[in-house]
Amino acid sequence: MINLKELEVWFVTGSQSLYGEETLKQVAAHSQTIAGSLNDASQVPAKVVFKPTVKSTEEIYAICMEANTAKNCIGIIAWMHTFSPAKMWITGLKILQKPLCHLHTQFNRDIPWNDIDMDFMNLNQSAHGDREFGFMVSRMRKNRKVIVGHWQDPAVLDDINTWSRAAAGWNDWQGAKFVRFGDNMRFVAVTDGDKVEAEYKFGYAVNTHGIGDLVQVINETSDAAIDQLISEYEDEYSVVASLKSDGAQYNSLREAAKIEIGLRTFLEAGNYKGFTDTFEDLHGMAQLPGIASQRMMAAGYGFAGEGDWKTAALVRAMKVMGSGLPGGNSFMEDYTYHFDPENPMVLGSHMLEICPSIAHGKPSCQVHPLGIGGKADPVRLVFNSGAGPALNASLIDMGNRFRLLVNEVEAVTPLHDLPKLPVARVLWKPFPDMKTGCAAWILAGGAHHTGYSQNLTATHLQDFADMANIEFALIGKDTNLYQFKNELRWNDVYYQINK
Ligand code: MN
Repeated sequence: MINLKELEVWFVTGSQSLYGEETLKQVAAHSQTIAGSLNDASQVPAKVVFKPTVKSTEEIYAICMEANTAKNCIGIIAWMHTFSPAKMWITGLKILQKPLCHLHTQFNRDIPWNDIDMDFMNLNQSAHGDREFGFMVSRMRKNRKVIVGHWQDPAVLDDINTWSRAAAGWNDWQGAKFVRFGDNMRFVAVTDGDKVEAEYKFGYAVNTHGIGDLVQVINETSDAAIDQLISEYEDEYSVVASLKSDGAQYNSLREAAKIEIGLRTFLEAGNYKGFTDTFEDLHGMAQLPGIASQRMMAAGYGFAGEGDWKTAALVRAMKVMGSGLPGGNSFMEDYTYHFDPENPMVLGSHMLEICPSIAHGKPSCQVHPLGIGGKADPVRLVFNSGAGPALNASLIDMGNRFRLLVNEVEAVTPLHDLPKLPVARVLWKPFPDMKTGCAAWILAGGAHHTGYSQNLTATHLQDFADMANIEFALIGKDTNLYQFKNELRWNDVYYQINK
C-alpha cells in the first residue's frame, strides 16, 4: 500500500537571463545530468524530475505554483548553478507549500587547476549563488533542508534519501484519514489533544466511529474468508496447538480472523490510513483486536491503542518514511524496567499490539487471557525483536504547539527467555544512558506510547518536524540534562513569540 517510486521530487535550478544563451544552455545541460544521476541513484527512493531553469520572478512563481498542485510532487530540490538574484524568489517561496531542499552543490567536483579561466568562473558560481538564495529563505524564516557536497558523493545521496523519505511521510499525511473506534481511554492526558489543530497543522483528519459501526462490518464476514485467512496464519506463523482446528480454542482464532477481515474491509472502504481502538469500548466484539491490529500495522496502517490518534498517525508516517528499508516500525509502549546498575534497560511492549515488521524470526500465534477489557481471550502474535540501533518517537500536544520528541536507543537481545510473557517485546538501552535518557524524556513530557523504528534515524524525524513546522527535541548520544532543560525552556519562549 506504500510505493515511494510513484512520488516525485522536482529538481529546480535557478539562474538569470543576464548570462546569455550559451551559458544558460550549459546550465540546463548540467542540471539535467545531475537530476538524471539523482534519479538513477539507488539511494534516492522517489523519482527525481528535471525542470527547466528558472530565470525570472514569473518563472519561479509558476514552478512553485505548479509544485503545490502537482499530486505526486512531494518536494523541490533547488540549486543555484549560477547567481540567481533572490528578490526573484520572494513571490514563489511565499506561496510554496511543498517541502524545500536546498542542494548546495557544484557541477564539477574539483577545481580544474590548469584550465580554470573567467568563463569557468562565470558558469560555476553556486558557492556564492547558493548563498544569495540561502539568505532569502532565511530572511523569509522558511524551514528547509540544506545539503552540502558534490552531487555524486554517497553522503550527499544519503542526505537526499533521508529528506525525500521525510517528504514522502509528510505528503502521505496531507488529506489522510484516520479513524478512531471509540474515544480516548478515560482520563488519560498525553494520548489526547487538539484534533482541530492537528488537521490544520498536519493535514490529516481524525474522526470517530462508534464500535458498533465496525462490529456490523465484522459480522458480515463469510466463513470462507475466515478459512482462507486462517490458512494464511498457518503459513506465516507458528500457531500453537490450542488454536489448531482440533484445538480447544480454535474458535478464538476464527473470531480473531473475523475481526481482522472486518477491520480491513472497514479501513479500505473508508480509505483510512490508520486507526485506534480502546479496550473500554468493545461492545459487540468477542475479543480485543490483537493479531488483527498487528497485521494491519504490518500491512502499512498506522495504529495505536487506547484512542491515541497522534501515535497512530505518527506510526503511519514512519512506515511511509521507512518503506523499502530493512527493518520495521511499530506502535510501542515503555512497559517495565530492568534497573540493574550494571545493565539498565527498558522492556517495551503493549497489551497485544506490536507490529511483526520488527519481529526477529517467525512469530508465534498464541491465545491468552487479558486482565482488562472484560472480553474473551484475544489471539496475538508473540515474538522477540532484533538487536541494533533504533529509536522511539513521541508526538505530544503542549497546548500551544506540537512537540516531536525522539530518543535514540540501542535494542538488545533478551538476556533470558521470557516463557510466561504472552506478548511481543523489545529490550533497549536509551541513549545517552538510562538515567539521563529517561529523565530527559519525562522532562520533555514524552508519552508512554511511541512509534518505534529500526530503520529511521533522528534526522528523518527532524526533517519531518521541519516540514510540519513543529518543535523537535532529540535525546541522543550527546544529550546532557543541563543543556536539554535549557533547550526546552528556550523553545517555550520561541513558540510563544513565533506564533
Ligand atoms: Mn497503551
